[in-house]
Amino acid sequence: MKIPRSHPRYTSLMTREKLVKAWKAGTVVPEGLIAHGRGEAWDYLFGEETSAPALVAEKAAAAFLVRAKRPAISVNGNVASLAAREIVHLAKAVPARIEVNLFHRSDARVRRIVRSLERAGARGVLGLHPDTRIPRLDSARALSHREGIHGADVVLVPLEDGDRAEALARMGKVVISVDLNPLSRTSQRATVPVVDELTRALPNIEKFVRELRGDSKEARRIARTYDRDGNLRAVYSFLNWRLRTLARGPRRRKR
Ligand code: ATP
Ligand code: MG
Repeated sequence: MKIPRSHPRYTSLMTREKLVKAWKAGTVVPEGLIAHGRGEAWDYLFGEETSAPALVAEKAAAAFLVRAKRPAISVNGNVASLAAREIVHLAKAVPARIEVNLFHRSDARVRRIVRSLERAGARGVLGLHPDTRIPRLDSARALSHREGIHGADVVLVPLEDGDRAEALARMGKVVISVDLNPLSRTSQRATVPVVDELTRALPNIEKFVRELRGDSKEARRIARTYDRDGNLRAVYSFLNWRLRTLARGPRRRKR
């Protein structure tokens, strides 16, 4: 389908089209399409912009990433389809390992995603030959690399499933999530829940990484003063403000 540029929701329609194409190519699973719908619904509520509290969490995420000894970034089908370039740029800026980690795993799909990341400039992407398991997770969801997610002290998990985010946090890792749903188990379990849209969040985090990697004192200050629960409360307050503003209705124009 050709989407006219003049369509008021052009970007959003193009994104949906991109995901459908990725599904046809076998990178994204049908469950990923449903997950995107949940994300879009939340993004309407947030006004499709990065909120002030999300920006605070993004800066904290950057501080934890630059201070990490072994940072890793987890990539699934949706993340690779929507933001391969942004992932690669962020991974290079930190620098962090990239590991493909799929909820609905098949070797063929891991291979396709690794290739798409390599086309975007990534090198040494992990995921194809996992050598260990995340404890207390069943089946293929647990497979991971010692060199990557399993051995990481700080792990960025965009669009992650709640169970796995919880299992990683239980291993003592700093878990940074990117998830538009502040009520998802992922956001609830993460050490640093970033409640923002993926393609906005990643470049923001990268920008802060570039600022903070030469300023270890500031990075330490930000990581130490970051208040996870307070930040989530600020996200709810922002939503509350948005809905109250909407409930008041459109402002009358002054004559
Ligand atoms: P739980 O964390 O409780 O398991 P869930 O069942 O919704 O929640 P997932 O399948 O991991 O778990 O959901 C993916 C999450 O990603 C959803 O919460 C959805 O809102 C969010 N999401 C989808 N697309 C985007 C996007 N582009 N940017 C940010 N978040 C997104
Ligand atoms: Mg989730």
